[in-house]
Amino acid sequence: MPEGAPEQCQVCGNHALVPRRVTDAVVRECEFCGHIEGPSELVELLELQREAEELGCSEYSYPLARFIDELPGVKLLGDSGGNRKLGTMPFVAFELSDHRTWQLENLGQALRLMREELSREWMIEFTFDYQLGFELRTRPDGRKTHDPDEIEAARRDLLHMWRRLRGYTALAWWKQG
Ligand SMILES: [Zn+2]
Repeated sequence: MPEGAPEQCQVCGNHALVPRRVTDAVVRECEFCGHIEGPSELVELLELQREAEELGCSEYSYPLARFIDELPGVKLLGDSGGNRKLGTMPFVAFELSDHRTWQLENLGQALRLMREELSREWMIEFTFDYQLGFELRTRPDGRKTHDPDEIEAARRDLLHMWRRLRGYTALAWWKQG
C-alpha cells in the first residue's frame, strides 16, 4: 500500500483493515468484506490460499501445485504441504501428459536459478507407480521424519518457488512449447 493511502477498504468503505503477513511482506485485509490490498502478487497468493482452504488443500503447496498443473503438457498427480505431526516434508507430484520433456527443462532450470534462495535442496525425482511420474521434493538425507522447523522452511520454499516461477515464465529461456 502506498504511503498516505486511506486506511479504508476500496470495496466496502469499512475502516477495519487488518495487516496480514504473507511470506515476507504484509498486506491489509478488510475484516468486513475480505477484500485484500497490497502488491498484486501477494493478493493473488492470499486468494489462492483461501481457495486452498475452501477446497481442503494445503495452503502451502496449493499455489505451486496449481501453477504446475496449469503448465501446458503437465498434469498434477498430488501435493502435500508437509505434516508437522508426522514429520513429513512437502512435495508436488505430476506427470507429463504430452510425454515431452520441455516443462521438466523449465522447472529444472528454474530450480538451478533459485538454488541459493531456497532453504533446502530441491530436486525433481522420477517415480514409477504404474505410470511415469515426477515429484518435486527436497533431497532425501536418510531421515524418515523431519523437525517442524525444517517443514516450515520447506513450506516457505514452496511459496518462494511459486513467486519466482510466475516471473520466470515471461523470460526468454522459458520454453513456450
Ligand atoms: Zn471491505
